[in-house]
Amino acid sequence: MIETALDEPGHVTELRRQLRRFVADKAPREKRRAWDRAHDWPRDLFRELAQMGICALTVPEEYGGAGRDIWAAVAVIEELTRAGPFLAGPFIHCAFYGGMNISENGSAEQKAELLPKLARGDLLFAYGLSEPDVGGDLASVKTRARIDGDFIRVSGAKRWCTGADWADYIYCLVNSDPNAPKREALSFLLIPPKTPGITITPIEHVNLRYTASCDVHFDDVRLPLSAIVGGREKWGQGWKMLAGRALDVEKLEVAAVTFGTAQAAVEEAWTYAQERVQFGKPIAAHQAIRHKLVTARTRLEACRLMLYNAARLAHEGLPCAVETSMAKLFIADTGVEIALACQQIMGAYALSDAYDMDRHVRDLLGMPIVGGSSDMQRNNLASLWRLPA
Ligand SMILES: Cc1cc2nc3c(=O)[nH]c(=O)nc-3n(C[C@H](O)[C@H](O)[C@H](O)COP(=O)(O)OP(=O)(O)OC[C@H]3O[C@@H](n4cnc5c(N)ncnc54)[C@H](O)[C@@H]3O)c2cc1C
Repeated sequence: MIETALDEPGHVTELRRQLRRFVADKAPREKRRAWDRAHDWPRDLFRELAQMGICALTVPEEYGGAGRDIWAAVAVIEELTRAGPFLAGPFIHCAFYGGMNISENGSAEQKAELLPKLARGDLLFAYGLSEPDVGGDLASVKTRARIDGDFIRVSGAKRWCTGADWADYIYCLVNSDPNAPKREALSFLLIPPKTPGITITPIEHVNLRYTASCDVHFDDVRLPLSAIVGGREKWGQGWKMLAGRALDVEKLEVAAVTFGTAQAAVEEAWTYAQERVQFGKPIAAHQAIRHKLVTARTRLEACRLMLYNAARLAHEGLPCAVETSMAKLFIADTGVEIALACQQIMGAYALSDAYDMDRHVRDLLGMPIVGGSSDMQRNNLASLWRLPA
C-alpha cells in the first residue's frame, strides 16, 4: 500500500507507484551497497529515470517542463530516497539546484538556454554555498567576485560542494561588493567547473555517499558577464535569491530525503524484528522492541503530515516559510530518533554489511546539519514569530 496525504492528486500517487517499480527492478540492494562503497551513482540508470519526465517537474511549460509541480517533485525525492541517495541525489542536482533555481532566478537568456536541457535531465548543477570558514552564516561568504571590463574575476574557496567534480555548473554564492552592507553584497554565478583556474579536491565523508563532496578553489577565474544569475541587473541581489521561494523548497528537499530514508530504516527494522528470534519468540514480541517499533512508526506519520502539508503550501504558491522551516526542523531531528531506535532494534546486525541500516543511520545523523541546521531553523522560526532577540 502507498500511504499518501488524503488529498494527494492522483497523478502523484501514480508517479509513486511507477518509481517504486523502477527502483525495485533496477536498484536492488546489492547495487545500492556497491554504490555506497564506491561513493558513486549510476549515470545510465539516472538517464533512464529522467525519461519518465521527472526532471521537468520544476520547469515551466514554455521551456519544455511540466509546470511547477512541487507536490510531485517532493514525492519523487521521497520515493527515490527510500532506495538511498543514489538516484535522489542526482535528481535534486538537476531538478532543484538547476531547474528550480533557474526558473526562479535566471535571466531570459539563461532560462531559454538551460531550462529545456534541465527538463530533460541533461544538465546537473552543484551548490556552492558553504566555505571553509562559512557554514550557517552564508551572508559572510568570502569568495570574491569583481567585474573587470567584460569579465568577472573570481577568487576564493568553496567547501562541501557536492558533485563539483561532475556537475555542468556550480551555482555559486559570491561576495560581489565587500563595501556594501552584508545582504547587498552577494551575487550568484553559474560557473562551469572545468574553467581554467579551478581546482577540485574530493573530501572523505560517511554520509550521503552517492558522490564525494568537494573542496573547490578559485584562483583568479575569468567568466563572461553572462555567468551572473539573473543577468547584470541582478548583481548584488544574491541575498534576495537565497532568501526567496527557492529556500523554502530547499528545506523541503532535505525534509523529503530524511523522510524517505527514515521510512526505509523503519521498514528494515520492522521486518527484522519479526524474523529475529530470541528467548523463543520473535524480538517483535518483546515489549521493549514492540514499543520502539510503534513509536518509530508513529513518528514517521507525524513527519509525513508535516512534509505533505508544507509541500502542498509550496505547490500552491502560498506563504510557507514557517511550515517548511518547521518541517525541516522536526523531520531532521525526528529522523535521528528514528535512526537510533531502529539501530538498537537490529542489534549487531545494524552495524553489519548484511543490511542497509548502517547507511540509513549515517545518512539520518547528518540531516539536522545539512541544508540549514536545526538550530538555524529554530533561529529562523523565532524571528518569523517575532520573538525578542
Ligand atoms: C555530505 C555533505 C554534503 C554537503 N553538501 C553541500 C553542498 O552541496 N553545498 C553546500 O554549499 N554545502 C554543503 N554541505 C554543507 C552543509 O550545508 C553545512 O554543513 C551546513 O550548512 C552547516 O554548516 P557547518 O557544518 O559549517 O556548521 P556551522 O555553521 O559551523 O555550525 C556548527 C554548529 O553550530 C550551530 N550554530 C551555528 N550558528 C548558530 C547560531 N547563530 N545559533 C545557534 N546555533 C548555531 C549549528 O546549528 C551547528 O550545530 C554539505 C555537508 C555535508 C556533510
